[in-house]
Amino acid sequence: MKNPNIVILGAGYGGIMTAVKLQKSLGANDANVTLVNKHSYHYQTTWLHENAAGTLHHDRTRIAIKDVVNTSKINFVQDTVTEIKPNEKKVLLEDGELSYDYLVIGLGFEAATFGISGLKEHAYTISSINSARLIRQHIEYNFAKYNNEPEKKQERLNIVVGGAGFTGIEFVGELANRVPELCKEYDVPRDQVRIINVEAAPTALPGFDPELVEYAMNSLEARGVEFKIGAMIKEVTENKLVFEKDEQREEIETNTVVWAAGVRGNSLVEEAGFEANRGRIPVGDDLRPEGYDDVFIVGDCALIMNEETERPYPPTAQIAIQEAEHTAANLARLIKGDKHLEPFKPDLKGTVASLGDSDAIGVVFDDKKLFGWSATAMKKVIDNRYLLKLGGIPLVLKKGKLNFFNF
Ligand SMILES: Cc1cc2nc3c(=O)[nH]c(=O)nc-3n(C[C@H](O)[C@H](O)[C@H](O)COP(=O)(O)OP(=O)(O)OC[C@H]3O[C@@H](n4cnc5c(N)ncnc54)[C@H](O)[C@@H]3O)c2cc1C
Repeated sequence: MKNPNIVILGAGYGGIMTAVKLQKSLGANDANVTLVNKHSYHYQTTWLHENAAGTLHHDRTRIAIKDVVNTSKINFVQDTVTEIKPNEKKVLLEDGELSYDYLVIGLGFEAATFGISGLKEHAYTISSINSARLIRQHIEYNFAKYNNEPEKKQERLNIVVGGAGFTGIEFVGELANRVPELCKEYDVPRDQVRIINVEAAPTALPGFDPELVEYAMNSLEARGVEFKIGAMIKEVTENKLVFEKDEQREEIETNTVVWAAGVRGNSLVEEAGFEANRGRIPVGDDLRPEGYDDVFIVGDCALIMNEETERPYPPTAQIAIQEAEHTAANLARLIKGDKHLEPFKPDLKGTVASLGDSDAIGVVFDDKKLFGWSATAMKKVIDNRYLLKLGGIPLVLKKGKLNFFNF
């Protein structure tokens, strides 16, 4: 009998962790496992805001797939998925096609722009190594250009970040550290540069503990970040952003708008015909969409409900990794003939948001609040723990954040 084909789409947190776990739990004669990814590397999405601000080089964030996946056990295909055909058990790639017996979808997120005029065309998003590198270069170019034009254009020095949720706050935290360096490098007075964080909700970091929110805003404001809270972005053009606050319309001259206010699952998954809810696919506790026993969805493309709050769990790396580990174990059971799949329940260890490289806030172990250096150290522990799981001590030593006393 032929070995079953397991195809994993995407080498983000969900995809690569599924592959790494399967390579440990399955023998060469149990299944043929294929991992498909756009690039030859995995990247830590949770570090991309640092790459975008220019506080961390993107080579620290990306990890060659061959360094963590044993390519003699797992067939790695570097290609772009163009279509998923679940009824034919096929996946189309730019350069070929694959058939599967079991499919794991981990194609991650894309920006949700909620139909805001001009956002798609003119705003930047922090969504991949390439998009982060573009933001860094664009900001640097503006600084370089500012003193090389007859007319000084303020739009070059106003950096607007849409959204004061987790990603937006982490990004402005990095910018607050980076901007003084850029000012020195390009002879630009610090007081000419504005970092403006626009949020539609009545608070920054909606859903976070109010004491932590206040701490975060004070820390960022002290470093020059301006907040526009309760402000709804209405339009983005090549050189301005329009928002409405308290029924007043305001404009900011800017050619740098970074949109960090909403994500949805990769649209390829919805286009495959799975029933979707705001771009994410509702899955059962076995992480399979209804009616498709041969498809597992992990990470940001999957929608799972929190029964206590009756709301979906937010898309996070933490959950993507746990879903991947769980799916790999369930797949190994199926391949070995056990039809009983274990139900998945996230085991939330807490949340820590960085506010630059030496400040952070977080809640861990159910309700322990962390501020400042203890939160920063905890963030590094979380990051290093992931690297340890993925590639052991050598990967932690190569890519980890080991400067625990950099406060
Ligand atoms: C700046 C930022 C900071 C964050 N911080 C945190 C944090 O501190 N903690 C936390 O838990 N979460 C955080 N998140 C959220 C977290 O990063 C996501 O929830 C997580 O990346 C989802 O993992 P995933 O495996 O679903 O997808 P991803 O990690 O996005 O990976 C998707 C993979 O699929 C590949 N891919 C996409 N399309 C195709 C295609 N068509 N063909 C082939 N390959 C394709 C991509 O190249 C990528 O490798 C943050 C997100 C951002 C943007």
